[in-house]
Amino acid sequence: MAAPVVHISLFSHPKTNIHVAPLSLIPKCTSLRELKQIHAFSIKIHLQNDISVLIRLINFCTVNPTFASMDYAHHLFDQIPQPDIVVFNMLARGYARSKTPLGAIPLFAQILSADILPDDYTFPALLKACACSKALEEGKQLHCLAIKHGLSLNVYVFPTLINMYTACNDIHAARRVFDNVEDPCIIMYNAIITGYTRNSLPNEALALFRQLQVSNVKPTDVTMLSVLSSCALLGALDLGRWAHEYVKKNGFDIYVKVNTAVIDMYAKCGSLEDSESVFENMPVKDTQAWSAMIMAYAIHGRGSKAVSMFEKMKRERVKPDEITFLGLLYACSHSGLVEEGYKYFYTMSDKYGIIPGIKHYGCMVDLLSRSGQLEEAYKFIDKLPITPTPLLWRTLLSACSSHGNVELGKLVIKRIFELDDSHGGDYVILSNLYAKTGRWEDVDLLRKMMNDKGVAKIPGCSSIEVKNVVHEFFSGDGERYVSTELHSALDELVEELKVIGYIPNTSLVSHDMEEEDKEITLRYHSEKLAIAYGLLNTPAGTTIRVVKNLRVCGDCHLAAKYISLFSRRQIILRDVQRFHHFKDGKCSCGDFW
Ligand code: ZN
Ligand code: ZN
Repeated sequence: MAAPVVHISLFSHPKTNIHVAPLSLIPKCTSLRELKQIHAFSIKIHLQNDISVLIRLINFCTVNPTFASMDYAHHLFDQIPQPDIVVFNMLARGYARSKTPLGAIPLFAQILSADILPDDYTFPALLKACACSKALEEGKQLHCLAIKHGLSLNVYVFPTLINMYTACNDIHAARRVFDNVEDPCIIMYNAIITGYTRNSLPNEALALFRQLQVSNVKPTDVTMLSVLSSCALLGALDLGRWAHEYVKKNGFDIYVKVNTAVIDMYAKCGSLEDSESVFENMPVKDTQAWSAMIMAYAIHGRGSKAVSMFEKMKRERVKPDEITFLGLLYACSHSGLVEEGYKYFYTMSDKYGIIPGIKHYGCMVDLLSRSGQLEEAYKFIDKLPITPTPLLWRTLLSACSSHGNVELGKLVIKRIFELDDSHGGDYVILSNLYAKTGRWEDVDLLRKMMNDKGVAKIPGCSSIEVKNVVHEFFSGDGERYVSTELHSALDELVEELKVIGYIPNTSLVSHDMEEEDKEITLRYHSEKLAIAYGLLNTPAGTTIRVVKNLRVCGDCHLAAKYISLFSRRQIILRDVQRFHHFKDGKCSCGDFW
């Protein structure tokens, strides 16, 4: 073993006040090993029961907790004959930050039985631990105890209580907790609004924001971050513009974070121009702001813009982080910049020391897949230093479908099913691939498999915002309500499109239907319904913006191109993957998505 690195000379220095030595050395510690040496030394000089030394040692262990350091801290804690709640809180905070967050719970039971009263620092730490481990049952028990000790409405405890419920996916319980408060303050509002946004419930978040406005409570920058990301989730541009106006009018645009959220909101609502102008006008731009702008270019398929933005960022000496690279790689993959993508992928770790995460690998798989290097993509995933997620394989599966590679598709689906066989989308992609290549028996087999396993298909849903109201359409709505005005308008539209060359792509629909029924099934897809609704209900010449929950299907993509040509309207469709800008019969994605 290497010699200890601690400054031994200090220990034996004649002028050193020996009792102070361990205390003053602890902050200089750089490892657990050094800390243990100081602990050993303090025992040697009979300070083993010195509370201030023990507390400092515990504190060191809990600031950057590892498995070993938390173990050690717990051991030190056990040596304190009469620990108080302050030391316990320190340990609980360490656990909440560690990889074993629930470690403090059994100890908490001991604390309670020793009649030590928890305070308003105890519950936040423990509730955070429950949130991290999605431990709803423990969380509920803590909630009861917080009520019992009269702390459930405390400004420190309340937000962590709401956060615990939302993190455990029990948003209804969170709402009940909130509704029981008579005059909620802004901290309480922020907790629940953020909870809704994190659970992808933007309408609920915005409804509460309206309630807040009438209740005379002043929102903060935190509130605005949630409001802006709710608008982004909805893809509702008018609502987003209103939120941006609100931000400016109330002076929230002094916050870099808020402006960054505005950039992200505009990009996700389909207005890249607005993102650019907000970015340009920001007096201070940090890494997050640059990353948001790079990501904005990326999702709009402007790869070279994203790349030049990154180069500019480097020139201005702003340090990129993992999110910056994610945007950059995403941009390269969605714009077919294979060489650049590779270059940046390696620069990331070699030059900036950023370890690639699963999402970065996902971009690389996408990049390889798009350039048709499917076998390479397969090998790439197979050799990853971390366990691939089903999503990573799914990216390749979609590529197999676009390239009509059935054999590799079958291999990939096998790998996906090893990890998770409950995802309806996987069956749909494979089924489309089979259908495309005319393998109808395989399509039937797959459908039977889905039925046997009880796997449900996620219904396609598209939404469009008209006059501040978001309207949702589901695929297949037409089969149930064929007689509505919207459906007959869509019928008419499709006939007009056929005149200018549109041929419905019925190869995507199951073979056991009559040709006419196949067309009807395609015609009432949610995207087409939403676009038709937009044509009917918005002024001529304005852009139609639609958001879809899944990938846009091949036929709707084709139809949207013809609609943009026929109606002289720009259509911006955001699907789960990216943006499609349809204009004059063409799409910005170059028909690859
Ligand atoms: Zn469709
Ligand atoms: Zn497209």
